[in-house]
Amino acid sequence: MTPDPIPGADVPALSIRDLRKTYDNGVEALKGISLEVAPGDFYALLGPNGAGKSTLIGIASSLVNKTSGEVRIFGVDIAADRDAAMRLIGLVPQEINFNMFEKPFDICVNYAGFYGVPRAIARERAERVLKEAQLWDKADKMSRTLSGGMKRRLMIARAMMTSPRLLILDEPTAGVDIEIRRGMWKTLKEINASGTTIILTTHYLEEAENLCRNLAIIDKGRIVEQGPMKALLAKLDVEGFLLDIEQALPGVLPKIEGATLLAEDEHTIDIEKPRAMELNHVFAALDAAGIRVRSMRTKTNRLEELFVRLTGDNNTGVAA
Ligand code: ADP
Repeated sequence: MTPDPIPGADVPALSIRDLRKTYDNGVEALKGISLEVAPGDFYALLGPNGAGKSTLIGIASSLVNKTSGEVRIFGVDIAADRDAAMRLIGLVPQEINFNMFEKPFDICVNYAGFYGVPRAIARERAERVLKEAQLWDKADKMSRTLSGGMKRRLMIARAMMTSPRLLILDEPTAGVDIEIRRGMWKTLKEINASGTTIILTTHYLEEAENLCRNLAIIDKGRIVEQGPMKALLAKLDVEGFLLDIEQALPGVLPKIEGATLLAEDEHTIDIEKPRAMELNHVFAALDAAGIRVRSMRTKTNRLEELFVRLTGDNNTGVAA
């Protein structure tokens, strides 16, 4: 679905200046965040648990009050005109929160009605968003009979009922398996391709990598890195593996130019190599030295590695 043309298309979809949030209990969840998301972008807020991601999008979608700072949605200041800003946003919360005893079609139509969309238009839109979410054949089934992945897609379809220009998702794939995650990625990519700006929070680097063009990494209420995804990944140019070796290792390991090899134990090599170096090159060099690799494991959790580099903090609690 294509949103109406945006007046002044160069106005950022989201613009945040020096945003701070201190909760009543004294927790400083945001310590001065500034960022801009361009219209049409697919943007990730990446960070470990407790970083402040949900607080940030809670404020952007007017569910949480800010302590200070400025937030604009397509130029509309949420403090000056909350309703106008809200009309531009579709929010997909972390928890599934529709009525399990309602049907997907009714959930979508009623949701739009709540936002003042006339019923005839809402019915047309419900058909479109449910088709886009591959749920049309389930439109008249009780929602509780949907699979986990379908329920998540219904959350997205429902948010699209108001034709938002900016779709915000809080950890859309937390705790769902990889197959469901991939299904959701497909739906989100299509929504973005049709012109809707998307911002999502995630603690999966893989998710941000798969979907997003730009991102901000948040840690302890501060942005520690922001910019294009590609530029960030280029910084992660080294990767590590543990190689399980069939026979006992020789006393001296072969040299592979550009890589570092260490004997972890008698049957395991710990290797660090530039990401650009083909693994086959490594295997061939080992093979030439009579060392046969039986299996291998990825050693580095890339997001953890990234956080350690950016924050000097070993205790990140993130998943890649
Ligand atoms: P994330 O989404 O990155 O996991 P949150 O925004 O949920 O992070 O939390 C940031 C910090 O604010 C955490 O220390 C959290 O405990 C705290 N926090 C979140 N919500 C509340 C609240 N309603 N009251 C008090 N503290 C909160």
